[in-house]
Amino acid sequence: MSWFTRKEKGINTPTELKKETPDGLWHKCSNCKKVMHTREHKANAYTCIHCNYHEKIGSDEYFELLFDGNTFTELDADMSSSDPLQFVDSKPYLSRIAATQKKTDKKDAVRTAYGPVNGLEIVVGCMDFDFIGGSMGSVVGEKIARAIDHALANKIPFLMISRTGGARMMEAGFSLMQMAKTSAKLALLAEAKIPYVSLLTDPTTGGVTASYAMLGDFNISEPGALIGFAGPRVIRETIGKDLPKDFQSAEFVLEHGFLDFIVDRKELKTRLTSLFTMLK
Ligand SMILES: [Zn+2]
Repeated sequence: MSWFTRKEKGINTPTELKKETPDGLWHKCSNCKKVMHTREHKANAYTCIHCNYHEKIGSDEYFELLFDGNTFTELDADMSSSDPLQFVDSKPYLSRIAATQKKTDKKDAVRTAYGPVNGLEIVVGCMDFDFIGGSMGSVVGEKIARAIDHALANKIPFLMISRTGGARMMEAGFSLMQMAKTSAKLALLAEAKIPYVSLLTDPTTGGVTASYAMLGDFNISEPGALIGFAGPRVIRETIGKDLPKDFQSAEFVLEHGFLDFIVDRKELKTRLTSLFTMLK
């Protein structure tokens, strides 16, 4: 009776159907490849419970980690890019923007908001790498400038979380102008003696490193983050020498005096609170 005896050897379920658990229940670490419960990973501030690898996260996650009860008021939430240069690469810039907005559910590569962090009111800007490599165009520059204005007007500290490849190629000179604009605004903040902390996450490179990311009263970083201006290949070719091991890692950059300290993401909120309280 073929109903009761298996006529074919082996079990022929295709791999994609072999799902014993629903999608999203497990998280696989991108570094050590070990698996943990998604809930456990989130409770650990999106760091690996095995190797402490800091998973790359965006504004949604940082806002939830920092603001008390995830309560915050977003600034300029609807600001969106125009196309000053009518730039076309593999597709027109505006179609790229529209497609990325749809894919990421974000308007551009930075979100800014204010709210309580352990009861202390703070303005936070956070970049989203998923949005065209977290590149800095006019919208990113303008939103950061206005977030600084908000900090100035209300005399509250400013925290900027960077994760970026640098300036946005499709806006050429307009992107580069954001470096000057954000730096000038930060100078006003410094003049008013309002604290600014810059958190550099993996990766922070290019025009962002060369402007607001390195202008903090404190420049801090997450462990293992790649921090640099130009990429290692460009530097190797320019100086004609091999580069040291771990070149451009947060630890290397700290050792060479460009960072104040490295903070584990699980301690970020506590460390920031004591830092801002001390600077007040
Ligand atoms: Zn791991």
